[in-house]
Amino acid sequence: MTRAAAEAVIKALLSEKDYLNGLDEKLGDGDHGSNMASGALAAKEALDEAGDEADLKKILQAAGDAVIMNVGGTAGPLYGAAFLAAAEVVNKKSALDAVTLEKIFGAAVEEIQKRGNSQLGDKTMLDVLIPIREAFKAEKCAGKSFEEILTAARDAARDGLEFTKTIAAKKGRAASLGEKSIGFEDPGAASALIIFRALCGYWKDSLRN
Ligand code: ADP
Ligand code: MG
Repeated sequence: MTRAAAEAVIKALLSEKDYLNGLDEKLGDGDHGSNMASGALAAKEALDEAGDEADLKKILQAAGDAVIMNVGGTAGPLYGAAFLAAAEVVNKKSALDAVTLEKIFGAAVEEIQKRGNSQLGDKTMLDVLIPIREAFKAEKCAGKSFEEILTAARDAARDGLEFTKTIAAKKGRAASLGEKSIGFEDPGAASALIIFRALCGYWKDSLRN
């Protein structure tokens, strides 16, 4: 992921602020879009400070630190910790291929599971992030082009968000609604899909050029 990929994510989160707040109004306190937007702005500033030379590891670290320091709520610190965990598994030689993406999403998922004490089916961001990670596993990637792998991962992420509509929340504010949370998409799962879609858009453009 280069700087341009990070910028695509930042732009997408800023433009989906109202949509994400709207989802969080149904299940929580209506601030998820604002939280993600302030995280995006803080990450943008940190990237500007890191300079044009910043590699993938530095970008993930800068974004993680900025999000942890500047974003309140539950999701911001979880995303921040996930970025920092992902920074740990890449190095200067990491190419952006399915193997590296499996490592990045694997580290992110494990960090969120550990900190959030949450798992697949709890109606959280993990219901999108775990299917993405699964799509990058070697056995799922065999015989596919990178573009085909991305498409499969994006479809799995979209299905993950749809799945959150059908289940009751077990974690976070929405858990207090119990069965009443069924029928609504989880805001954190929606932001995870927005982030991944922005990355896919960036990758597909760069594959074409
Ligand atoms: P808050 O709920 O504190 O207002 P946000 O609105 O920014 O924070 O984020 C809410 C999102 O955080 C939820 O939609 C869910 O995806 C995610 N979330 C909440 N609790 C957990 C958890 N324990 N593990 C993983 N994700 C969680
Ligand atoms: Mg909220």
